[in-house]
Amino acid sequence: MNELKSMTLQELTAALQSMGEPAFRGKQVFTWLHKGIQSYEEMGNVPKSLREKLAQTDPLAAPRVARKQVSRLDGTVKYLWELADGNCVESVLMRYRHGNTVCVSTQVGCRMGCAFCASTIAGKVRDLTPAEILDQVIFTQLDSGETVSNIVLMGIGEPLDNLDAVLRFLELVNHPDGLNIGMRHISLSTCGLVPGIRRLAELELQLTLSVSLHAPDSETRSRIMPVNRAYDVEELFDACHDYFRKTGRRISFEYAMIDGVNDYDWQADLIAQKLRGMPGHVNLIPLNDVAESPWRPSRHLAAFQKRLESHGLTATVRRSLGGDIDASCGQLRRKAMEEAQKGEDSQ
Ligand code: SAH
Repeated sequence: MNELKSMTLQELTAALQSMGEPAFRGKQVFTWLHKGIQSYEEMGNVPKSLREKLAQTDPLAAPRVARKQVSRLDGTVKYLWELADGNCVESVLMRYRHGNTVCVSTQVGCRMGCAFCASTIAGKVRDLTPAEILDQVIFTQLDSGETVSNIVLMGIGEPLDNLDAVLRFLELVNHPDGLNIGMRHISLSTCGLVPGIRRLAELELQLTLSVSLHAPDSETRSRIMPVNRAYDVEELFDACHDYFRKTGRRISFEYAMIDGVNDYDWQADLIAQKLRGMPGHVNLIPLNDVAESPWRPSRHLAAFQKRLESHGLTATVRRSLGGDIDASCGQLRRKAMEEAQKGEDSQ
Protein backbone atom coordinates (compact mmCIF):
# COMPACT_ATOMS: atom_id res chain seq x y z
CA MET A 1 0.00 0.00 0.00
CA ASN A 2 1.28 3.49 -0.92
CA GLU A 3 4.58 1.92 -1.94
CA LEU A 4 4.84 3.98 -5.12
CA LYS A 5 4.36 7.15 -3.12
CA SER A 6 7.47 6.43 -1.06
CA MET A 7 9.54 6.10 -4.25
CA THR A 8 11.80 8.75 -5.72
CA LEU A 9 10.95 9.85 -9.26
CA GLN A 10 13.76 7.67 -10.57
CA GLU A 11 12.55 4.58 -8.74
CA LEU A 12 8.95 5.19 -9.73
CA THR A 13 9.93 5.58 -13.38
CA ALA A 14 11.90 2.34 -13.25
CA ALA A 15 9.00 0.52 -11.55
CA LEU A 16 6.56 1.68 -14.24
CA GLN A 17 9.01 0.83 -17.01
CA SER A 18 9.28 -2.69 -15.65
CA MET A 19 5.50 -2.87 -16.11
CA GLY A 20 6.00 -2.00 -19.79
CA GLU A 21 5.20 1.72 -19.51
CA PRO A 22 7.09 4.53 -21.28
CA ALA A 23 9.55 6.56 -19.16
CA PHE A 24 7.45 9.76 -19.19
CA ARG A 25 4.76 7.95 -17.20
CA GLY A 26 6.97 8.19 -14.12
CA LYS A 27 6.71 11.95 -13.92
CA GLN A 28 2.97 11.91 -14.61
CA VAL A 29 2.22 9.47 -11.80
CA PHE A 30 4.70 11.17 -9.42
CA THR A 31 2.97 14.51 -9.96
CA TRP A 32 -0.47 13.01 -9.30
CA LEU A 33 0.61 11.22 -6.15
CA HIS A 34 2.12 14.40 -4.74
CA LYS A 35 -1.09 16.30 -5.50
CA GLY A 36 -2.83 13.99 -3.02
CA ILE A 37 -5.08 11.94 -5.26
CA GLN A 38 -7.20 9.52 -3.24
CA SER A 39 -7.77 7.13 -6.13
CA TYR A 40 -5.76 6.34 -9.27
CA GLU A 41 -8.99 7.04 -11.18
CA GLU A 42 -8.19 10.74 -10.77
CA MET A 43 -5.13 10.43 -13.06
CA GLY A 44 -6.88 11.76 -16.18
CA ASN A 45 -3.85 11.60 -18.49
CA VAL A 46 -2.95 8.01 -17.59
CA PRO A 47 -4.51 5.06 -19.48
CA LYS A 48 -7.35 3.32 -17.68
CA SER A 49 -5.64 -0.08 -17.94
CA LEU A 50 -2.66 1.23 -15.95
CA ARG A 51 -4.87 2.96 -13.38
CA GLU A 52 -6.62 -0.34 -12.76
CA LYS A 53 -3.38 -2.29 -12.60
CA LEU A 54 -1.94 0.14 -10.02
CA ALA A 55 -5.11 0.01 -7.93
CA GLN A 56 -4.64 -3.74 -7.71
CA THR A 57 -0.90 -3.90 -7.15
CA ASP A 58 -0.45 -0.88 -4.85
CA PRO A 59 -3.72 0.44 -3.41
CA LEU A 60 -3.76 4.10 -2.32
CA ALA A 61 -4.79 5.00 1.22
CA ALA A 62 -5.07 8.58 2.41
CA PRO A 63 -4.76 9.42 6.11
CA ARG A 64 -8.14 10.17 7.70
CA VAL A 65 -8.71 13.24 9.86
CA ALA A 66 -9.51 11.49 13.16
CA ARG A 67 -9.60 14.80 15.05
CA LYS A 68 -9.00 18.40 14.21
CA GLN A 69 -8.70 21.26 16.67
CA VAL A 70 -8.50 24.90 15.66
CA SER A 71 -7.06 27.39 18.13
CA ARG A 72 -9.32 30.33 18.81
CA LEU A 73 -6.28 32.28 19.93
CA ASP A 74 -4.14 32.17 16.81
CA GLY A 75 -5.69 29.89 14.17
CA THR A 76 -3.20 27.06 14.78
CA VAL A 77 -4.69 23.79 13.54
CA LYS A 78 -3.86 20.47 15.08
CA TYR A 79 -4.57 17.29 13.13
CA LEU A 80 -4.76 13.78 14.46
CA TRP A 81 -4.39 11.53 11.41
CA GLU A 82 -5.52 7.95 11.38
CA LEU A 83 -3.19 5.87 9.20
CA ALA A 84 -4.20 2.85 7.13
CA ASP A 85 -3.37 0.42 9.97
CA GLY A 86 -5.38 2.37 12.56
CA ASN A 87 -2.39 4.03 14.24
CA CYS A 88 -2.55 7.78 14.77
CA VAL A 89 -0.02 10.60 14.44
CA GLU A 90 -0.24 14.36 14.82
CA SER A 91 0.66 17.36 12.67
CA VAL A 92 0.28 21.03 13.50
CA LEU A 93 -0.31 23.87 11.05
CA MET A 94 1.06 27.16 12.37
CA ARG A 95 0.46 30.50 10.74
CA TYR A 96 3.30 32.95 10.92
CA ARG A 97 3.77 36.25 9.16
CA HIS A 98 6.48 34.69 7.00
CA GLY A 99 4.21 31.86 5.85
CA ASN A 100 2.57 28.65 7.00
CA THR A 101 4.61 26.05 8.79
CA VAL A 102 3.59 22.46 9.29
CA CYS A 103 5.08 20.36 12.06
CA VAL A 104 5.14 16.67 11.12
CA SER A 105 5.63 13.39 12.98
CA THR A 106 8.21 10.81 11.91
CA GLN A 107 7.25 7.81 14.07
CA VAL A 108 4.17 6.41 15.79
CA GLY A 109 5.25 7.15 19.36
CA CYS A 110 8.90 7.49 20.36
CA ARG A 111 11.45 5.36 22.19
CA MET A 112 13.78 8.12 23.36
CA GLY A 113 12.14 8.41 26.78
CA CYS A 114 12.60 12.16 27.50
CA ALA A 115 11.12 12.68 30.96
CA PHE A 116 9.06 15.78 30.11
CA CYS A 117 7.64 14.68 26.75
CA ALA A 118 4.15 13.26 26.14
CA SER A 119 5.10 11.54 22.85
CA THR A 120 7.28 8.94 24.47
CA ILE A 121 5.11 7.83 27.38
CA ALA A 122 3.82 4.69 25.67
CA GLY A 123 7.03 4.05 23.69
CA LYS A 124 7.42 3.58 19.96
CA VAL A 125 4.91 1.57 17.97
CA ARG A 126 6.56 1.80 14.55
CA ASP A 127 8.41 4.01 12.09
CA LEU A 128 6.49 6.05 9.54
CA THR A 129 7.14 5.46 5.85
CA PRO A 130 8.32 8.33 3.63
CA ALA A 131 4.81 8.47 2.13
CA GLU A 132 3.22 8.76 5.56
CA ILE A 133 5.47 11.69 6.48
CA LEU A 134 4.80 13.34 3.12
CA ASP A 135 1.04 12.79 3.38
CA GLN A 136 0.93 14.91 6.53
CA VAL A 137 2.11 17.89 4.47
CA ILE A 138 -0.04 17.12 1.43
CA PHE A 139 -3.26 16.53 3.35
CA THR A 140 -2.74 19.45 5.73
CA GLN A 141 -2.61 21.63 2.61
CA LEU A 142 -5.66 19.99 1.06
CA ASP A 143 -7.75 20.07 4.23
CA SER A 144 -6.87 23.64 5.20
CA GLY A 145 -6.78 25.08 1.70
CA GLU A 146 -3.55 26.81 2.71
CA THR A 147 -0.14 26.55 1.09
CA VAL A 148 2.60 25.27 3.34
CA SER A 149 5.95 26.99 2.86
CA ASN A 150 7.94 25.65 5.80
CA ILE A 151 8.26 22.25 7.42
CA VAL A 152 9.57 21.33 10.84
CA LEU A 153 10.30 17.71 11.73
CA MET A 154 9.38 18.25 15.35
CA GLY A 155 6.25 16.22 15.82
CA ILE A 156 5.99 12.79 17.40
CA GLY A 157 9.10 10.62 17.03
CA GLU A 158 12.84 11.01 16.65
CA PRO A 159 13.74 11.79 13.00
CA LEU A 160 17.28 10.44 13.31
CA ASP A 161 15.90 7.15 14.67
CA ASN A 162 14.11 6.76 11.30
CA LEU A 163 16.74 8.44 9.18
CA ASP A 164 16.43 6.46 5.93
CA ALA A 165 12.71 7.24 5.67
CA VAL A 166 13.31 10.86 6.68
CA LEU A 167 16.01 11.37 4.03
CA ARG A 168 13.73 9.95 1.39
CA PHE A 169 10.90 12.20 2.61
CA LEU A 170 13.23 15.21 2.28
CA GLU A 171 14.08 14.24 -1.28
CA LEU A 172 10.39 13.81 -2.12
CA VAL A 173 9.10 17.02 -0.56
CA ASN A 174 11.98 18.98 -2.10
CA HIS A 175 11.34 17.72 -5.63
CA PRO A 176 10.31 20.30 -8.28
CA ASP A 177 7.61 17.94 -9.60
CA GLY A 178 6.26 17.45 -6.09
CA LEU A 179 5.69 20.03 -3.36
CA ASN A 180 8.99 21.73 -4.19
CA ILE A 181 9.69 22.95 -0.67
CA GLY A 182 13.30 24.17 -0.43
CA MET A 183 15.70 22.65 2.10
CA ARG A 184 16.25 26.08 3.60
CA HIS A 185 12.59 26.01 4.59
CA ILE A 186 12.94 22.75 6.48
CA SER A 187 14.10 22.15 10.07
CA LEU A 188 14.95 18.80 11.56
CA SER A 189 14.97 18.40 15.33
CA THR A 190 16.87 15.67 17.16
CA CYS A 191 17.27 14.70 20.81
CA GLY A 192 20.95 14.13 20.04
CA LEU A 193 21.58 10.84 18.25
CA VAL A 194 25.22 11.51 17.47
CA PRO A 195 25.72 8.94 14.65
CA GLY A 196 22.70 10.42 12.85
CA ILE A 197 24.04 13.97 13.22
CA ARG A 198 27.34 12.80 11.76
CA ARG A 199 25.61 11.06 8.85
CA LEU A 200 23.55 14.15 8.17
CA ALA A 201 26.68 16.33 8.22
CA GLU A 202 28.20 14.25 5.41
CA LEU A 203 25.19 15.02 3.21
CA GLU A 204 25.66 18.79 3.64
CA LEU A 205 21.96 19.51 3.29
CA GLN A 206 20.82 23.11 3.50
CA LEU A 207 18.19 22.37 6.13
CA THR A 208 18.33 23.75 9.67
CA LEU A 209 19.41 21.28 12.32
CA SER A 210 17.78 21.76 15.72
CA VAL A 211 19.29 19.98 18.67
CA SER A 212 17.15 19.44 21.75
CA LEU A 213 19.78 20.28 24.32
CA HIS A 214 17.76 21.00 27.48
CA ALA A 215 20.87 20.82 29.68
CA PRO A 216 24.58 21.50 29.05
CA ASP A 217 25.86 19.21 31.81
CA SER A 218 25.71 15.44 31.67
CA GLU A 219 24.32 14.98 35.15
CA THR A 220 21.20 17.04 34.50
CA ARG A 221 20.82 15.91 30.91
CA SER A 222 20.98 12.20 31.78
CA ARG A 223 18.32 12.80 34.39
CA ILE A 224 15.81 14.19 31.89
CA MET A 225 17.01 12.64 28.61
CA PRO A 226 18.05 8.96 28.65
CA VAL A 227 19.70 9.43 25.23
CA ASN A 228 22.45 11.26 27.10
CA ARG A 229 23.53 7.99 28.69
CA ALA A 230 24.32 6.65 25.21
CA TYR A 231 25.74 9.86 23.70
CA ASP A 232 26.67 12.37 26.38
CA VAL A 233 26.81 16.13 26.00
CA GLU A 234 30.52 16.16 25.30
CA GLU A 235 30.08 13.82 22.32
CA LEU A 236 27.02 15.80 21.28
CA PHE A 237 28.83 19.16 21.33
CA ASP A 238 31.73 17.61 19.40
CA ALA A 239 29.31 16.37 16.74
CA CYS A 240 27.66 19.80 16.61
CA HIS A 241 30.98 21.60 16.14
CA ASP A 242 31.90 19.13 13.37
CA TYR A 243 28.46 19.59 11.80
CA PHE A 244 28.97 23.35 11.68
CA ARG A 245 32.50 23.02 10.28
CA LYS A 246 31.29 20.65 7.55
CA THR A 247 28.06 22.39 6.53
CA GLY A 248 28.59 26.01 7.55
CA ARG A 249 25.01 25.95 8.85
CA ARG A 250 24.14 27.47 12.21
CA ILE A 251 22.56 25.00 14.60
CA SER A 252 19.52 25.88 16.66
CA PHE A 253 19.51 24.54 20.23
CA GLU A 254 16.13 23.86 21.80
CA TYR A 255 15.98 24.41 25.53
CA ALA A 256 12.76 23.75 27.45
CA MET A 257 13.03 25.65 30.71
CA ILE A 258 12.27 23.44 33.70
CA ASP A 259 11.90 24.84 37.17
CA GLY A 260 14.89 24.10 39.39
CA VAL A 261 16.42 21.66 36.89
CA ASN A 262 18.08 23.47 34.00
CA ASP A 263 17.40 27.15 34.66
CA TYR A 264 20.47 28.12 36.73
CA ASP A 265 22.93 30.84 35.76
CA TRP A 266 25.85 28.42 35.74
CA GLN A 267 24.05 26.37 33.10
CA ALA A 268 23.67 29.42 30.85
CA ASP A 269 27.38 30.08 31.34
CA LEU A 270 28.21 26.47 30.48
CA ILE A 271 26.13 26.61 27.27
CA ALA A 272 28.10 29.66 26.19
CA GLN A 273 31.37 27.94 26.97
CA LYS A 274 30.43 24.80 25.03
CA LEU A 275 29.23 26.71 21.99
CA ARG A 276 32.34 28.84 21.70
CA GLY A 277 33.63 28.82 18.13
CA MET A 278 30.24 28.23 16.61
CA PRO A 279 27.36 30.68 15.93
CA GLY A 280 24.71 28.92 17.96
CA HIS A 281 21.15 30.03 18.44
CA VAL A 282 19.38 29.01 21.65
CA ASN A 283 15.62 28.77 21.52
CA LEU A 284 14.15 28.87 25.00
CA ILE A 285 10.84 27.03 25.26
CA PRO A 286 8.41 27.56 28.09
CA LEU A 287 7.90 23.97 29.30
CA ASN A 288 4.49 22.62 28.39
CA ASP A 289 2.90 21.11 31.41
CA VAL A 290 2.38 17.40 30.77
CA ALA A 291 0.05 16.01 33.41
CA GLU A 292 2.03 12.76 33.78
CA SER A 293 5.34 14.53 34.40
CA PRO A 294 6.69 15.92 37.68
CA TRP A 295 8.44 18.86 35.98
CA ARG A 296 7.07 22.38 36.10
CA PRO A 297 7.79 25.43 33.90
CA SER A 298 10.68 27.66 34.97
CA ARG A 299 10.08 31.23 36.13
CA HIS A 300 13.50 32.42 35.05
CA LEU A 301 13.20 32.56 31.27
CA ALA A 302 13.96 36.24 30.90
CA ALA A 303 16.97 36.13 33.23
CA PHE A 304 18.34 33.03 31.50
CA GLN A 305 17.93 34.68 28.11
CA LYS A 306 19.77 37.81 29.31
CA ARG A 307 22.57 35.70 30.72
CA LEU A 308 23.02 33.88 27.39
CA GLU A 309 22.96 37.17 25.52
CA SER A 310 25.57 38.62 27.85
CA HIS A 311 27.90 35.95 26.46
CA GLY A 312 27.15 37.09 22.90
CA LEU A 313 24.77 34.25 22.07
CA THR A 314 21.51 34.67 20.19
CA ALA A 315 18.71 33.56 22.47
CA THR A 316 15.01 33.73 21.73
CA VAL A 317 11.94 32.71 23.66
CA ARG A 318 9.67 30.57 21.56
CA ARG A 319 6.25 32.04 21.07
CA SER A 320 3.76 29.43 22.07
CA LEU A 321 0.97 28.78 19.58
CA GLY A 322 -2.17 26.75 20.05
CA GLY A 323 -2.05 26.90 23.85
CA ASP A 324 -5.76 26.12 24.00
CA ILE A 325 -5.69 22.98 21.82
CA ASP A 326 -3.06 20.59 23.22
CA ALA A 327 -0.94 21.57 20.22
CA SER A 328 2.32 20.29 21.55
CA CYS A 329 4.37 17.20 21.70
CA GLY A 330 2.09 14.22 21.42
CA GLN A 331 -0.60 15.58 23.69
CA LEU A 332 -3.51 15.08 21.33
CA ARG A 333 -2.58 11.51 20.42
CA ARG A 334 -2.14 10.80 24.14
CA LYS A 335 -5.54 12.26 24.93
CA ALA A 336 -7.19 10.19 22.19
CA MET A 337 -5.45 7.05 23.49
CA GLU A 338 -6.60 7.74 27.04
CA GLU A 339 -10.17 8.33 25.94
CA ALA A 340 -10.13 5.10 23.92
CA GLN A 341 -8.78 3.32 27.00
CA LYS A 342 -11.51 4.79 29.21
CA GLY A 343 -14.07 3.72 26.62
CA GLU A 344 -12.82 0.14 26.78
CA ASP A 345 -12.66 0.15 30.58
CA SER A 346 -16.26 1.24 30.88
CA GLN A 347 -17.56 -1.49 28.58
N1 SAH B 1 12.59 13.87 18.83
C1 SAH B 1 12.92 15.15 18.32
C2 SAH B 1 11.75 15.94 17.74
C3 SAH B 1 10.42 15.90 18.46
S1 SAH B 1 10.20 16.82 19.96
C4 SAH B 1 13.62 15.96 19.39
O1 SAH B 1 13.74 15.51 20.52
O2 SAH B 1 14.11 17.04 19.08
C5 SAH B 1 10.17 18.51 19.51
C6 SAH B 1 10.69 19.42 20.62
O3 SAH B 1 9.73 19.56 21.69
C7 SAH B 1 11.96 18.90 21.27
O4 SAH B 1 12.86 19.96 21.44
C8 SAH B 1 11.43 18.40 22.59
O5 SAH B 1 12.46 18.26 23.53
C9 SAH B 1 10.40 19.43 22.92
N2 SAH B 1 9.45 19.05 23.98
C10 SAH B 1 8.96 17.83 24.28
N3 SAH B 1 8.13 17.89 25.35
C11 SAH B 1 8.08 19.18 25.73
C12 SAH B 1 7.39 19.88 26.77
N4 SAH B 1 6.60 19.25 27.64
N5 SAH B 1 7.56 21.22 26.85
C13 SAH B 1 8.37 21.87 25.97
N6 SAH B 1 9.03 21.28 24.98
C14 SAH B 1 8.91 19.94 24.86
